[in-house]
Formats: sequence, structure tokens, C-alpha cells
Amino acid sequence: MVKQQYDANLLPDMLPIYYTRHFPQKIFCRWLAYGCSPQPLSNREMSFTLADDVYLRYLSISNQKELQELLQKKCPYKLDIGAVYNTKPSVGRHNAVVLARELVFDIDLTDYDEIRTCCQEAKVCEKCWLFMVIACEIIDKTLREDFGFQCILWVFSGRRGIHCWVSDYEARILDSPGRGAIASYLCLIAGGENQSKKVHLGNENLHTSIRRSLNIIDNYFEQLLQEQDFFATSEGLNAFLKLIPDETLRSQVAKKLEKLPQSSLERWTSFVSTYEAYCRENGNAMRKLKYLTEEIKIQYCYPRLDVNVTTGFNHLLKSPFSIHPKTGKVSIVFKSSNVKNFKLDEVPTINTLLDDMSTDSSVHQNNMKEAVKTFQEVVFLCEKTEAMRKRNNANTSIEF
Ligand SMILES: [Zn+2]
Repeated sequence: MVKQQYDANLLPDMLPIYYTRHFPQKIFCRWLAYGCSPQPLSNREMSFTLADDVYLRYLSISNQKELQELLQKKCPYKLDIGAVYNTKPSVGRHNAVVLARELVFDIDLTDYDEIRTCCQEAKVCEKCWLFMVIACEIIDKTLREDFGFQCILWVFSGRRGIHCWVSDYEARILDSPGRGAIASYLCLIAGGENQSKKVHLGNENLHTSIRRSLNIIDNYFEQLLQEQDFFATSEGLNAFLKLIPDETLRSQVAKKLEKLPQSSLERWTSFVSTYEAYCRENGNAMRKLKYLTEEIKIQYCYPRLDVNVTTGFNHLLKSPFSIHPKTGKVSIVFKSSNVKNFKLDEVPTINTLLDDMSTDSSVHQNNMKEAVKTFQEVVFLCEKTEAMRKRNNANTSIEF
């Protein structure tokens, strides 16, 4: 058996087969229609990126048959999903109004370039993937426990990030300021390149949501310190020292850390004990630096969102089960409860799915099946909550 290399030049031959045999068309249409609420499937915008980056917007379909025909006719390299309009979307129609759109989150490892040490830009490995694991667990818990959302779909972006689609009715009809408010709630890291310390938690009791996020971070913090080794280089160490606002403490820590071996875990442990001793002796510092360790953990671990994607009503987002044209990887759906077991090299690629003889074939086929099953579960939950919502609405209107 041979390990088949992905070759983008073969996409025109592979895509029609992939769309027919592997793309979960039926459940995909059911997902986008949500029992026709608030509008039929045909009012939803889809967009295709064709070979040579030709971009088609305002496409729409009424049923699975039309989807299959459109996919075969256009053979898109990439599929994106847009909003639901009050009318069938089309290029010439300028008075169309957006009625609904999933609340979406886009987390991309390029936004972690400032802190990750293993890779930069388009590169990604198992080590920096841990940032995505933490982001997924924190966002998922926050959306469920603080906002009460249930219909949450997690999708691998195809290369170096993850997308979250919140499909509860209340989330889909949320206006732009509402989306902005949820995005800000999830933004604890603020400030551009020139600002060293980007997290400020004050000195009041910590919000439950922040406590919960810190508990998640604590599950992975040691591993991150060992794998990323943030403070091993003089550059990394300096960036870390800049996060200590108190000059006396900073120079005490600097002196201690210089004498230590370069291991970030040892340096962190030494910092924490120096900090705690300093606070014990100095009540004033204790008040000012109450959450310093928490602030540093958040700066190195908390999710970094692309806020514009969440706030925008008709920002297009890559569809689940679309292929990433550069990697050949399928944008698979995964369970947030299982994200820590997500393995980048076990993500199905279009070439292994189409080639039974390749070494990865059985693992990839299996993971594709799992991904479709997870997708189905979320869609069934969406349909069930939508039916319940309609029944409740009907009951309330009878009472009045
Ligand atoms: Zn990496």
C-alpha cells in the first residue's frame, strides 16, 4: 500500500466523485433549512470558489437534487455559506434583507503567532493545535452555560483553525449589536502589537465564566509550557517579564530566572513562588497584582477570535465538509467533548477517501463516517428544538 500524496491538480477529477459519494448532501440540506424557519432553504445564500479563484456569490438551492446538479455543474473548489434572506438571493437583487444567520466564531492559529513558538503563519502541528483544543472547550462551555445555547456545531476549517456555528433560533435571529456583545464577552485579550500586557482582570472577585475558563486552561497549562517553551529564549523571557507591572517584583523575578535552566516550566514555578512571597510581604502589591498569574495564563492560552466574523451578519463562512483546496483536507465536524483527541493527520483527505488502497484509507473513512454522524446529531437536535419552539409559540398564541 502506498501513501498517496495530495495533488491539487487532480481536484477537477476528484471533486465530482467526492460530492456524489462522500458529501452528506441530504443532511446538509436539512441543516440549512431548519424546518423552513424563518424562510425556506432557497432563501439561503451559498457561494462557490471555482478553479482559478473565480468566485460565485448569491447561489441558492431548493432541495438536494438542485444541490447535486449545481455541484456537478460548477465543481466548486470551496463552498461557503451565507445568510438567509427574505427572498431568493441573487446578484441583481439589492433590496434583499438578511433575516437570519447562525452565530459564528472563527478561531485561526495565525492569530496566535505572537505566542506560539513551534510554527508561524500557515504552518500548524500537533503542538500548536493544543491552542485550538483550549479555545474550543472554553467557547463551547461559555455558549452553553452562560448563554444557554444547545445547537452548537464545531467544524475543522481545513488547515489551521476551527469554526463554531450556533444554530439555536435565538442565535440565528440575533442582530449585529447582540452578536458584538457576545463576541466582546468572549474577548479577554485586548490591544495590538505595541501593548505588552493585554489582560486586566482588576481586583474584584473573578466572574464565574473566567474561573471556569481558567480551570480549563489549568488542564493544559503545563503541557503548553513544556511544548511551547514560551520563556526559554531571551526574547520570550523579556516578553514575559513585561507582563509584570510592578518594577520591584519584575527585577526580583528577572534575577531568579536568569540563574535557572531555560525550561519554561521551571521558570514559571519559580516566578509563581517569588510572586506569592512578594504578595505576602507587601499588602499593597497584593491588591494591585491580585490576579497576575491568572492574567498571564489567559494571555498565553485564552481563545483569540476573529471578531468581525462573529459580528458581521452576512460574513460568508466555509461550509462543513468543504475541501480545503491547499491541503485536500475535509472540513469535518467534530464533538467539542472529544476535541482533545482530534489528530490533524487523521483528518480525511479527498484523495484517501477516493483511494481504497492508500495506507490511511481505513482511518480516514472511519473518521469521515464519525464526522457525518456527529453532524447528523446536531442537525436532529436543531430540528427537535425548532419543532418545540414552534409548538410553544402555537400554544402561547392560543392562550391569548
Ligand atoms: Zn505548531
